[in-house]
Amino acid sequence: MNNYGINIWSDDNFVIEDGLAKINHDCKPSLISIVKDIRKQDFKGPLLLRFPHITEKQINTLYNTFNASIKEYDYKGNFNAVFPLKVNQLPNFIHPLINEGKKFNYGLEAGSKAELVIAMTYNNINSPITVNGFKDKEMIHLGFIAKSMGHDITLIIEGLNELEMIIEVLNETKMEAPSIGLRVRLHSGGSGLWAKSGGINSKFGLTSTEILEAYELMEDNNIVKYLTMIHFHIGSAMNSIKPLKKALREAGHIYAELKNLGATNLNAINIGGGLAVEYNAYERTRFYSLSEFSNDVIFTLKDIAKQKGVDEPNIFTESGRFISAASTVLITPVLELFSSEYDLDHLNLKEKNPPLIQELHDLLRDMSKRTAYEYMHDSIDHMESLLTLFDLGYIDLQDRSNAEILTHQVIKKAISLLEIDHYEELKKLDENIQEKYLLNFSLFQSLPDYWGIDQEFPIMPITHLDKKPTRSASLWDITCDSDGELPFDIKKPLYLHDVNLNKEDYFIGFFNVGAYQDTLGMKHNLFSHPTEVNVVFKDGEVVLEKILESQKIIDILEDIDYDTNEIRAILRKSLNDHNYNDMEKYLNENSYLKTIWSYHE
Ligand SMILES: *Cc1c(COP(=O)(O)O)cnc(C)c1O
Repeated sequence: MNNYGINIWSDDNFVIEDGLAKINHDCKPSLISIVKDIRKQDFKGPLLLRFPHITEKQINTLYNTFNASIKEYDYKGNFNAVFPLKVNQLPNFIHPLINEGKKFNYGLEAGSKAELVIAMTYNNINSPITVNGFKDKEMIHLGFIAKSMGHDITLIIEGLNELEMIIEVLNETKMEAPSIGLRVRLHSGGSGLWAKSGGINSKFGLTSTEILEAYELMEDNNIVKYLTMIHFHIGSAMNSIKPLKKALREAGHIYAELKNLGATNLNAINIGGGLAVEYNAYERTRFYSLSEFSNDVIFTLKDIAKQKGVDEPNIFTESGRFISAASTVLITPVLELFSSEYDLDHLNLKEKNPPLIQELHDLLRDMSKRTAYEYMHDSIDHMESLLTLFDLGYIDLQDRSNAEILTHQVIKKAISLLEIDHYEELKKLDENIQEKYLLNFSLFQSLPDYWGIDQEFPIMPITHLDKKPTRSASLWDITCDSDGELPFDIKKPLYLHDVNLNKEDYFIGFFNVGAYQDTLGMKHNLFSHPTEVNVVFKDGEVVLEKILESQKIIDILEDIDYDTNEIRAILRKSLNDHNYNDMEKYLNENSYLKTIWSYHE
């Protein structure tokens, strides 16, 4: 048996019961029951299941943990949080988040004009908006407009030019100015893959000289009163708290010094995002709990405020990954096990076969539990010799086909004989006896961070979990790109079940995909976003909300600026009525593959 590390990565959101992956909430439905419901409605291909209750849980945990630390340390500042839209801007994710966040005044962070428009439109009016990233004068003007709507908005400046533009807009429009924050460039570096976000060589933030210049500029223009926030963000997926503590000390002192210079309305430190999520299924890689994290933040800031004799600052966080990652699961149907081509039915032995093929045949026939490992080894050696013979022209294509079938059958038989007692023996051969699983999805669309930065994700079949998985697996997507593969890794081996897809379905779940993947995904090969569904619980029952089908082929083409009228006109002219009707039907379907599932659903 194998629990796929669920105790390490799932944070109790999912459990294995009766051989099925279940949602550990309310009526505890299995993932497969939800998948079947959706597929019954004729939505095939990969599915993105979104669980708003998990987002809610993360929001509640974030606020409750920080508020508990505040109480424990008798801290005088308050706790605030915003969700950084770049992590997931999709409406079906964002709407439930805003709804749940209302009771805490949970706000939004925007890093571009388009994201700012989302925040201005949908953010609860009493919840904060922070704006990061490089800005032009129009974006700053948008900030003023948001302020005029009654939003509690803070423009966090990345450079002196942004401050100059704020002054210009203020003078030109005479509108009320939004609050101003200063992003500081820390001398202590960030951590992890995203260290470029923090540190002295960071692309963001003001140096200490620039902070002093900015303060002077604000004084000269009588706008110090708008300065409310000091901000830093040391990078994503921090696996330890150490770099954060250093950054907090640095930012805390900058806060205190500016207050002592006369920034009377300065009252907050924004510690950015970066809370990690456990993606590893083999061992823990995140070395702190949220309460250790919040205790450290509160303790450090309290200490600095006392040392410098200033008020304890309010705290803002912008954690995105922590809030959103666990909320989404990608479910991919397995289309094919490559070795199924090597079915015994296809074996076509000759009257007289090359000796090595005869031997392969005998190995298969005579194999027992005692000899399984040895015979399997021999068969792999024979196979290699036979391939060489083929290349030299000594055996023909039929011989080669027979050799491949027999070798795969030997491996299959050996695995089934060995699986219970000799798992360790078997593992030694993993590299040679892998099964390739073809999955109906695009890695570039649905797991772009795997492709781009080797980000791992927990992987687990959603059924068969009471059976021992016996095949060392590599996973292949349906794009025509050889990078669309998750290869077998002996250090982090993935074992899956040997299934006969003519008789049963087999679905693989990828977990913790709710942060960044939804929006970074690309339409390589023109595979678009999978069909997505919000799974919500009402009165002890599962309700499927907001089913959004994967984009139609014709719409995908329109998206990349093809003239779809022209496409239709050209096809129309060259096809008879019957074929054109079929064509029109295909244009209105999505790109993912359809299979003959119907007879076992
Ligand atoms: C990306 C980003 C975040 C979110 O980071 P996570 O690692 O997802 O928590 C927060 N603040 C800023 C300024 C960012 O650029």
